Amino acid sequence: MTLWISLKDIPAEGQAFQLTDQSIWTGPMAEFSVPATIASPIEASLYIVPQDEGFLVTGTMRGSVTLPCDSCLEGFELPLKVTFDSFEEYAGADTLHADECRLRKERGNPEFDAGGYLWEHFMLALPTRPVCKPECKGLCPKCGENRNLGECGCSGDEGDPRLAVLRKLKLS
Ligand SMILES: [Zn+2]
Ligand SMILES: [Zn+2]
Repeated sequence: MTLWISLKDIPAEGQAFQLTDQSIWTGPMAEFSVPATIASPIEASLYIVPQDEGFLVTGTMRGSVTLPCDSCLEGFELPLKVTFDSFEEYAGADTLHADECRLRKERGNPEFDAGGYLWEHFMLALPTRPVCKPECKGLCPKCGENRNLGECGCSGDEGDPRLAVLRKLKLS
């Protein structure tokens, strides 16, 4: 999702932008099948200061999302507290990925892709392996029961076939 904001009239001391449109996040979440939903609305504040060759972008993103636990598959709420601090410049002749550049000139006026920028930082904030709590017990590999909710009755040590062989040897 791109959301170009005009930087044409930004004063030298900079300007603040508030972005609360949830489609900045819900749009790409649907498009890229990210298994997250918004739990409490995400609010982003950007402060943009013009520089000689680009713009200085600082700011924060706050809110929370619901994600499925990678271990027990239950949905859980993950708070987002992200801060940004980056220098954005125009795509130059040596820019490898010009389409990933967040700054462009439209009829001579600078524009910044706040949507793409925020989405990128949102994705970086998501853990690669989200777990609901550090001590999550996950699902029983035998019966599929959520072991956080109690014992399922399957005996844990039967899971390893090598141990089962040893036990049989001892019994005979
Ligand atoms: Zn879990
Ligand atoms: Zn079980």
